[in-house]
Amino acid sequence: EILLEVKDLSAVIAESKQQILKGVNLSVYEGEVHVVMGKNGSGKSTFAKVGGAEVLVGHPDYEVTGGSIVFKGENVLDMDPEERSLAGLFMSFQSPIEIPGVSNIDFLQMAYNARRRKLGQPELSPIEWMAVGCVSGGQQLVVVVGAGVWCLFYGYISPKLELVNMKVDFLNRNVNEGFSGGERKRNEIFQLAVLGADLAILDEIDSGLDVDALRDVAKAVNGILTAKNSVLMITHYHRLLEYVKPTYVHIMEGGRIVETGKDSVAKRIEREGYNAIPAA
Ligand code: ADP
Ligand code: MG
Ligand code: MG
Repeated sequence: EILLEVKDLSAVIAESKQQILKGVNLSVYEGEVHVVMGKNGSGKSTFAKVGGAEVLVGHPDYEVTGGSIVFKGENVLDMDPEERSLAGLFMSFQSPIEIPGVSNIDFLQMAYNARRRKLGQPELSPIEWMAVGCVSGGQQLVVVVGAGVWCLFYGYISPKLELVNMKVDFLNRNVNEGFSGGERKRNEIFQLAVLGADLAILDEIDSGLDVDALRDVAKAVNGILTAKNSVLMITHYHRLLEYVKPTYVHIMEGGRIVETGKDSVAKRIEREGYNAIPAA
């Protein structure tokens, strides 16, 4: 089944009216891994932002001037970032925000509850939040959080922490505060794993990562993939594709997708550079 359909998407920078996206077409079906590559300034991040979250409410940097984005039958361009996220669209940011005073675990609990409300399921109270782990999880874990002692939903969260190779104390740190580049990326994927999403758009998921972090992040992406959900990853490098097998590789150039193919497209780019692609 189709998850995302982007048709002839055009967008300009709101202030200058400079056109950045010049008719992007892309379809993502359930269970697919899409990789968008392209040289610096080709429009990849703009596409991710427009598709993922940022274009309408709160981020008036870009204006859509034509085309459409439909996610699970709904017009994404009518939805604000929170609605998009609740609908099952996950967006990563090249520079994720810090949220002072809010711990990772609190943030996840809020986001998880918001998603449950959207799905018509009751929220989990802190007590139930604990119980999820105790009932479903096997192992329990007691962590001191401020004054209280919480049995975290360990059975649920523990494999996800393992997936990104993070320690438990990570949960008590404030969201993104003082995180290294690698930790931010790991945290992003961790959030994605906990919250779940039908489609995750991951911009420059591999930027600033050392080899180990890249492998962990790539493994984690593999770990969250099912027959039902999909990812769209944006990258400059072929390196990531040593770990994650794409269904399709797209080359973006001059605000358009100028070529779509299999892994061999990325291999050719690696060999010959972006000069080998046809001009937009
Ligand atoms: P990529 O992610 O492929 O490197 P971007 O989408 O970030 O490319 O940028 C595409 C082009 O649009 C670049 O020339 C960039 O300078 C320009 N651009 C993107 N966002 C803005 C903005 N908010 N203001 C001005 N120029 C922008
Ligand atoms: Mg860039
Ligand atoms: Mg970019």
